[in-house]
Amino acid sequence: MNRPTVICKNLHKSFGSLPVVEDVSFNIAPGQILALLGPSGCGKTTTLRLLAGFEELDGGSIEIDGQLVAGDQLSIPPEHRRAGMVFQDYAIFPHLSVEQNVGFGLPRGRDKRQRVQELLAFVGLTGMGERMPHELSGGQQQRVALARALAPQPAVLLLDEPFSNLDAALRVGVRQEVKDLLKRSGITAVFVTHDQEEALFLGDVIAVMNNGRLEQVGPAKDVFHRPRTRFVAEFVGQTDFISGRVTDRGVETPLGVLSRSLSLPMGTAVDVAVRPDDVKLIADADGNATILSRQFLGIAYMVRVRLADGTVVHSWQSHQINLSQGTAISAVIRPGHTLSCFVNGTAV
Ligand code: ATP
Repeated sequence: MNRPTVICKNLHKSFGSLPVVEDVSFNIAPGQILALLGPSGCGKTTTLRLLAGFEELDGGSIEIDGQLVAGDQLSIPPEHRRAGMVFQDYAIFPHLSVEQNVGFGLPRGRDKRQRVQELLAFVGLTGMGERMPHELSGGQQQRVALARALAPQPAVLLLDEPFSNLDAALRVGVRQEVKDLLKRSGITAVFVTHDQEEALFLGDVIAVMNNGRLEQVGPAKDVFHRPRTRFVAEFVGQTDFISGRVTDRGVETPLGVLSRSLSLPMGTAVDVAVRPDDVKLIADADGNATILSRQFLGIAYMVRVRLADGTVVHSWQSHQINLSQGTAISAVIRPGHTLSCFVNGTAV
């Protein structure tokens, strides 16, 4: 197997007495995109800045493309790290043309013009080289920033909340474009986001961060379907928790018996993570639940349901199903859905 392009080992960083990054370790394979996901203030940007070389490590080490760039009393300056950076506000120079922006980090020479033209073609901006940044849309400015970061052929691209400046309508299209560009270039990338949908869309691997620590690192599907902690389950996917009890038939819950055999003593209490697609509603006047509300979301309805024990869960429902507030209903776990169970916040 190829050596990972990025190897971060036990990273530590404090600002004054405040630890911000604690014992963070992850690897990124060549060509992989890693999404660093977590709530505001959890240390994502600091981790990215440690990789870029804009902050110095207090402990641990960082290797990029086979070169130790930080750690062991060593700190290679950002310009020698083979890491390209795309900032939240793109940071393209307003007084330079598109061409000048893209060529900014390239050495003078015969090849420079050709490389700039290649990059403009690559990001779909051929013919726009002489425009000034204010003559471009938000999505086009994003592509200029990408082209400029890719120009010196970095080993890894670091992107800090790359879509936060775009309005919701534009964001979906631009993130598809950026994903296509990153995949076509074959570059290894790390991007920071607090948006789980964005992380699942773009990340081959997702690293979920909480309070300076990584809670879980893994392929997007694993992180979504097999969250290791309650925090991850809560942060990735809209998740409700219901109470469960281990019995010899499986885990008893207010949504019925979940067929899981956990190696825990009979009677152990667990928290069961339930997402809106896990909950099936069946018309039943004597059912175990009551409809609280129904919210139109465009592609579906989100229905809030109160279970017999008072817990509230959400359920996706198609447009054809018309359930009014106060209706009694039977709520069950959708067959084939394996739900995650937690004891003291850790998956069991
Ligand atoms: P956000 O999504 O809001 O940008 P984040 O997860 O990227 O958050 P960081 O920007 O890494 O979080 O900040 C983590 C913590 O470190 C915060 O409490 C922040 O206030 C603090 N912090 C960041 N930079 C500095 C600094 N230069 N000096 C002091 N404290 C800092």
